[in-house]
Amino acid sequence: MPHTVVCIDPGHPSETSKGASANGLSELHLNWVIANDVVEALKKDNIKCVLTKDTEDKFVTNRQRAEIANEAHAVLLLRLHCDIGGKSGVTLFYPNCFIEKEGVTGPPVAVQQSSRLAAIKIAAVLKQSLGSDLPVNTVKTDEDTYIGHKQGGDLTASVFSLVPTVLVEMCVLTNKKDDLFISSSVGQNLIDSYGSAVILIMLLEMIKI
Ligand SMILES: [Zn+2]
Repeated sequence: MPHTVVCIDPGHPSETSKGASANGLSELHLNWVIANDVVEALKKDNIKCVLTKDTEDKFVTNRQRAEIANEAHAVLLLRLHCDIGGKSGVTLFYPNCFIEKEGVTGPPVAVQQSSRLAAIKIAAVLKQSLGSDLPVNTVKTDEDTYIGHKQGGDLTASVFSLVPTVLVEMCVLTNKKDDLFISSSVGQNLIDSYGSAVILIMLLEMIKI
């Protein structure tokens, strides 16, 4: 698949926040490491990836993140995040309405529909590959996020995205079981490659659509 381009968006720092941290784990760092592992692995399958930033600490607005995916004509804008709070497991979010922001109304209905299909498919793949290791929660919409709700239904990147977009909260950092899954104290404090592998499997399946 030489022409397939996936846009991987390691979440933060953006105008929203620098990213969460809990139990000694930094969301910013986890997002970055997993994103890069996935890019490397996909390269071996001739799948080109575009990252939304070139260094971990680079500030990129959420609008710019979508614009990078649009310019690359990506088949998917996959946004990697980690959550905090009282929940556990993986949760996927997709836009299911359009709103107006900075003079732009979006995302288009076709993008809403393809994002929904992508989220459902990814959740199914994740369920299969994760088994009982980490729960995969019911797919949700941008409206279910704090910022999406506050903005009238969509996350900012979704408004500007012209390609299917899914945000995945890969785990809940405040949950010890999730932490064990996503991180490893073995070796040089490396991120467990299993976390990356799961995202990779999901992407490969996703591209088969
Ligand atoms: Zn985040």
